[in-house]
Amino acid sequence: MTSQESKNKLDRIVAQARRDRETREQGYREQALKIYPWICGRCAREFTRENLRELTVHHRDHNHDNNPPDGSNWELLCIYCHDNEHSRYIDSGYGDAADTAGKKGASFNPFAQLKDLLDKKE
Ligand SMILES: [Zn+2]
Ligand SMILES: [Zn+2]
Repeated sequence: MTSQESKNKLDRIVAQARRDRETREQGYREQALKIYPWICGRCAREFTRENLRELTVHHRDHNHDNNPPDGSNWELLCIYCHDNEHSRYIDSGYGDAADTAGKKGASFNPFAQLKDLLDKKE
């Protein structure tokens, strides 16, 4: 096997793992959105279909594999509050590693100011 071939194989495995995870996340997200009102559990911001993708599913015990069908491990949080929630924990498993790699370990929260602005708006 050439190194190019093994790289292609690895790419396929990574792509498959990503698809699996997306399918799973899509599943519990839909469930959570059915069970709970579309309101952030922290800042009480309300969501509609137009901005619903900014409403995310938080796992109370931070275990993304713990998805009881009654929704007891889920909490709907806007992306800003979700980010805040996870910045309090060092071993956060929030979201895609590629998405959060830049944020992890950062000493400041780029959303903190934005959240303050949002909070003041009401
Ligand atoms: Zn979370
Ligand atoms: Zn919020």
